[in-house]
This record gives sequence, C-alpha cells and structure tokens, in this order.
Amino acid sequence: PPVIVWFRRDLRLRDHAALTAAAQTGRPVIPVFIFDEVFETLGAASNWRFDQALATFGSSLKKVGSRLILRKGPALTVLQELLAETGATTVYWQRAYDPDRVARDTGVKAALKARGVEAKSFAGALLHEPWTVQTGQGGDYKVYSAFRRAVWHRLIAGELLDVPKLRAPNTWPASAALASWSLAKSMNRGAQVLAQHNSVGEANALAKLDDFTTNRISRYQAERDLPASDACSGLSPFLTWGEISIARCWAAGQKAAHQGQDGADKFLSELLWRDFAAYLMWHHKKLATVEWRAEWQSFPWLKNADHPHFQAWIRGRTGVPLVDAGMRELYVTGQMHNRVRMIVASYLTKHLQMDWRLGMDWFADCLTDWDPASNAMGWQWVAGCGPDASPYFRVFNPETQRQKFDPQEHYINRWLAEGRSTPEPSALSYFEAVPRTWQISADADYPAPIVGLSEGRAGALGRYETWKDSR
Ligand code: FAD
Repeated sequence: PPVIVWFRRDLRLRDHAALTAAAQTGRPVIPVFIFDEVFETLGAASNWRFDQALATFGSSLKKVGSRLILRKGPALTVLQELLAETGATTVYWQRAYDPDRVARDTGVKAALKARGVEAKSFAGALLHEPWTVQTGQGGDYKVYSAFRRAVWHRLIAGELLDVPKLRAPNTWPASAALASWSLAKSMNRGAQVLAQHNSVGEANALAKLDDFTTNRISRYQAERDLPASDACSGLSPFLTWGEISIARCWAAGQKAAHQGQDGADKFLSELLWRDFAAYLMWHHKKLATVEWRAEWQSFPWLKNADHPHFQAWIRGRTGVPLVDAGMRELYVTGQMHNRVRMIVASYLTKHLQMDWRLGMDWFADCLTDWDPASNAMGWQWVAGCGPDASPYFRVFNPETQRQKFDPQEHYINRWLAEGRSTPEPSALSYFEAVPRTWQISADADYPAPIVGLSEGRAGALGRYETWKDSR
C-alpha cells in the first residue's frame, strides 16, 4: 500500500525526513497538500506567496516523476478519504510548533492511530525541538542569550538529505486545481508588483543561500543593520514556506564560520532567533494574542484601527520618512528590513501609542515571510511586553535611526516619491500596488509629521508613567 506524505509549510524535496522515510519504505509515495482551516486564515500577501509556492512545488514533484495532490477540507476528513481511496495505511508529516497546528496535528494523529493507521511525524522545521531545550531546573528559557548559549554547540534536529527517489502509485487520486482556490485574489493590484520582488521555490532558495554565503556573508556583521544594503540573506520567505531547510542554512553558516567569514556567527545567531520565537510560542500559546508579561495586559493601548494615525501608518503617510519608507517597502515587496521593522513597530506602539496587535495583524496581511511566532515575538519585543523585551521607555527616535542607519538616505529615496523630481521606479511602484480607494498619488505633497517626534515620545512616556502609577 502507498504512503501518504502530508505537506504543509515544508514545500521542498531535500532535507525532508518524512518524505525520505516514505521513499525508504519502497512503497509508492503520494504527496498531499490539504487546504484546511489553518490555511484559511492567512493574510493576503501570505496567500499570494503560498499560491506560488504550491505551484512551484507541484512542478518540482512532477520533474521527479511524482505529483502534489491538492485537497480542501478538514485535515482529518481529507486524510481519511485519501486513505480509503488509495488503500494507504501510513501517513507521514513534518512537525509544526505553533498552537493552531499543534492542536490540529495532535488530534489528527490520535484519530488516525485509533483507526490503525501508522501516523508518524518528523522533525525538520526547527534546529532544536522546543521540548529538548530546558534550563538546569527543567524550566523553559525566557532570555534569548541563555537559550542561545544552551544550544550553540548542540547537534541540530534536522539532517541534510538528497532528493529521494519516489515511486509513483499505479493510479493517482484526484487533485483539486490550484487555480480553483483563488488564493491570490485578495492581493488585487498588488500581485503583479509583488511578483517583481519575490522569487519562489527550492531551487531559488538554494541559489540564494549559496550567493549569500559565498558573496555577502562577509559584510553581514557590518552591514546587516543598514536597510539600503543587500547584506542580509533574504531567506525568510523561503524558510517560512519550508522551501529550504533550516538545517541547510545552519550547515552553510557553520561552513562559513570554519572558513573564518566575518558575519557567519552573527548569521547563525539570527537563525537561532527564529528557533527561539517558535520555542516561546510553543511554551506560551498566547504569544500572538496577549501580552507575555501579565502586568502589561492592563496597558491602555489605543485599539481603534480606524484611527487616522493608524491609517496614516499603514499607508506610509506619517510624515516620518524612515517609517513611511519601511511601510512602503512592506507593501511593495512583502518584506521589510529587520531594522526598519523595529523602527516602524516602535513608532506605532510608542509615538502613536497604538496596540501592538494592530501592527502585528497588518504585518500578517502584508508579509510574504509571515511567521506566527517570529511576528508575535518581534511585536511583543518592541512594544516592551514580551519576554526579554526591550523596555517600554526605550523609544526609538526615527530621526536618530535615520542618521545612523540610512545617513545618505539611499533607502528612503528608494521608497518615497513625493516631492522628488526623479523618483526611483521602486518608489513609484508603490502607487501601482495600493488600493485605489486610498486615493494617494506620487504627485501629492509629502505629509507633515502627524505627530512631532519629541511630542510623541513625551506622550508615550507620560501614558506609561500614568499607567504604572495606577497599578
Ligand atoms: P537575515 O538577517 O538574513 O537572517 C537570517 C534568518 O534568520 C531569517 O531569514 C530569519 O529566518 C531568521 N531571523 C533573523 N532575525 C530574526 C528575528 N528577529 N526573529 C526571528 N527570526 C529571525 N521574521 C519572519 O520570518 N517572519 C515574520 O513574520 C517576522 N515578523 C517580524 C516582526 C517584527 C516587528 C520584527 C522586529 C521582526 C520580525 N521578523 C520576522 C524577524 C526579521 O525581521 C526577519 O526574519 C528578517 O528581516 C528576514 O530577513 P532576512 O531573511 O534577510 O534575514
């Protein structure tokens, strides 16, 4: 009987323990993707990227004589239908760690096993599975540096594996047509613009990693905070969709470290931040919904998404150039440089005093690398309510940040068009991507700041002091 491999956010052929194990049984392998309720909640840009990832992965499987069977519905129901249709008695998959998917997978596994199906999950999405990293007292780490020290020299969970030889079944079960899911529909005009800035699939991911570790990693340490530089890897969307394994990224970083490349240790540390985010979310299931520090749950954030300040922030019209540049990079590319993510998040939660969840949800709608754990950790960190967070009173000054990290305004010029005689094409493309209902144009004047920088800082600190005194 065939083996079903249930793919989710792990759309690759290499370094896939579940796929390799299925191939090693010598039985036919049926790769399946199920569009279930967990995927139905994805944001617009995520959905667009996911559509592309599925199409590309389907083609990769075809090239090795296999297929990707697409089905829609509750995972357990669909798997049971497929087991009945194909005569399969085994289902393998790669483990996930965020609460929605853990709950789903646990239920599916128990129900399948109860019916005598061999249901087995494998590691591979993280360098270290959350339950394997404990403090001396058996608790969980709350501080990144301690987590990093605990795992730095440990063996990682995933292996580097070649593309396995997949035996095809005699007859393939029916598959839905990807186009019928219309995943990209909510991107509207933005889809064409996003397509110019996103490459997709395992082959591109491998090429990106190779280019980064060969040509750019030596500049990573010095330039990773400069948003106009290309010193970062650009791997996050590929990691989000599992088009490349974290094990392969780790191995490439290790190799560069052994060669004495300057930025290698820093790169390895950043890969561990991704693990730490998943670790935090695994231990604190509400990381994306409530403040991790309980006392912060009473903080009086402004919560109204219709507030003109929030609307100016999402549109990149706050009048603070570095903030607006970041918000436009996000809308056009589905990405935002890490330093700028921190700056726009600080500006929203401090200067504008708005709820971090509003910002987190906007990111979730716009990012092509959206990851529930990294996004929630990033927002809670900046807002000051997360574990190991930057304290609330640490208010980034966007102007000082600009002087430090974009002194020649290369990044700002890349993304702002208003008031410039020859705006860059990237800056103009923003106006092609945004909804027409926003009624903004490149010919308009650049707005005056909606909140003065020192006034915003004083407002944030005042609100913080009043709240602290009232507790
Ligand atoms: P590089 O600098 O080349 O780093 C290599 C890899 O390490 C990244 O691809 C990523 O997987 C990991 N990494 C690096 N920094 C972090 C970090 N701070 N947290 C977790 N992982 C990290 N990253 C996401 O992948 N998805 C998100 O939804 C997301 N939301 C964020 C929200 C906020 C408010 C902040 C401050 C950060 C967020 N990040 C998120 C983390 C980080 O900004 C991106 O991972 C990074 O910018 C991706 O670019 P890169 O691949 O070139 O990174």
